Amino acid sequence: MTTPATTIDRALQHVYKEVLRRNPGEHEFHQAVEEVLGSLGPVVKRHPHYLAERVIERLCEPERQIIFRVPWTDDAGQVQINRGFRVEYSSVLGPYKGGLRFHPSVLLGTVKFLGFEQIFKNALTGLPIGGGKGGSDFDPKGRSDAEVMRFCQSFMTELYRHLGEYTDVPAGDIGVGGREIGYLFGQYKRITNRYEAGVITGKGLAWGGSRARTEATGYGTVYFANEMARHVGRSLDGQRVVVSGSGNVAIYAIEKVTEFGGTVVAASDSSGYVVDEAGIDLDLLKDLKEVRRERISRYAEEKGGDVRFVEGGNIWDVPCEVALPCATQNELDEEAATTLVRNGTHIVAEGANMPCTPGAVRVFQEADVLFGPGKAVNAGGVATSALEMQQNASRDSWSFEHTDERLGEIMRNIHESVVTTAEDYGRPGDYVFGANAAGFTAVADAMLAMGVI
Ligand code: GLU
Repeated sequence: MTTPATTIDRALQHVYKEVLRRNPGEHEFHQAVEEVLGSLGPVVKRHPHYLAERVIERLCEPERQIIFRVPWTDDAGQVQINRGFRVEYSSVLGPYKGGLRFHPSVLLGTVKFLGFEQIFKNALTGLPIGGGKGGSDFDPKGRSDAEVMRFCQSFMTELYRHLGEYTDVPAGDIGVGGREIGYLFGQYKRITNRYEAGVITGKGLAWGGSRARTEATGYGTVYFANEMARHVGRSLDGQRVVVSGSGNVAIYAIEKVTEFGGTVVAASDSSGYVVDEAGIDLDLLKDLKEVRRERISRYAEEKGGDVRFVEGGNIWDVPCEVALPCATQNELDEEAATTLVRNGTHIVAEGANMPCTPGAVRVFQEADVLFGPGKAVNAGGVATSALEMQQNASRDSWSFEHTDERLGEIMRNIHESVVTTAEDYGRPGDYVFGANAAGFTAVADAMLAMGVI
């Protein structure tokens, strides 16, 4: 067990105890709740009615949780059974909004942790979207296109009845990209006989998708990291950067860091990491990961020279000034954080959802490393999904430049609101507190206005 990064205020301990009791074994969910509750002590002290009205307890309970069987037939004619989830967490700010994750590790508790984070992340964007998340323990790795299509069709055959542009709007996450969104939307359209473009985001550009949505999470992460640097009088220019992962978030984070003048020297996947001191060759990485769907060791094989592949190693051993964890939850622990601090890292910004363990966050905060939590840093993805919904609603299609500009503006606004909220509570520089307090307050106030819901 890692040490918690925060201690929960006495006034809120009963809430956390109740969450533990009612959700046994859901460690990631407990961790996500603990992280938010850890920030809310000063907020409820200033606004005691949140406690009296039991807003936090209400938010710890999803509005609706759907679990379903997903039967499908593989290429060998064998029946396969997976489990599908959609946790519709909060709809006070808009329709449930959040991605679908297809990965063998997905359990109900995983989806609940992601859904819980999503509520506050979406609130921080300032756009009218509620919070939800879904997915399946289906593993797309090694599956043919035809298998992925049959799985997606079976998944949507159950899920469609819970969705709608005004009800619940999924998108991608780990294991769900453009290919899966296409199969899911196609099946939704067939079953409902409606071309309801705003029912899912991350669509292809020819059929209702938004420009810059593919790039948005990675670009947004770097826009936020850049604001963090500027806030302390620094910049990303000339910085040595490590980005973990090599999926959608990592690839476009690497692209944007390079545009800002930084050098990304390492990237990874679940098999290990590569170090390329000349800077990661993005054309090769994109081809390997987005087209050929290869392991990252191929990168080193094809580059040769001094490029190294470290099998099963820890990417956080690679010295860097800026660290962007963009792979998955709990990928950066206390020990890795200690290594980063020792190596002089001064900014850590979470491109993935909850990639740093609570112990790691504590190490960063104690060492005065600027630490940006995922719910603020990676909000650019879902924000651009909301821009896609806007374009769908007005039957419009914006230019890349306009969409990217909106994204940049949203990320700057999130940074501003996180920083000013932290300052307002006398915790300057505490991005964890600022994000939790600002996100929670927006949701709680809307909820109270609507009565006991
Ligand atoms: N899965 C992404 C996230 O974690 C995007 C969700 C969306 O676009 O709805 O925020």
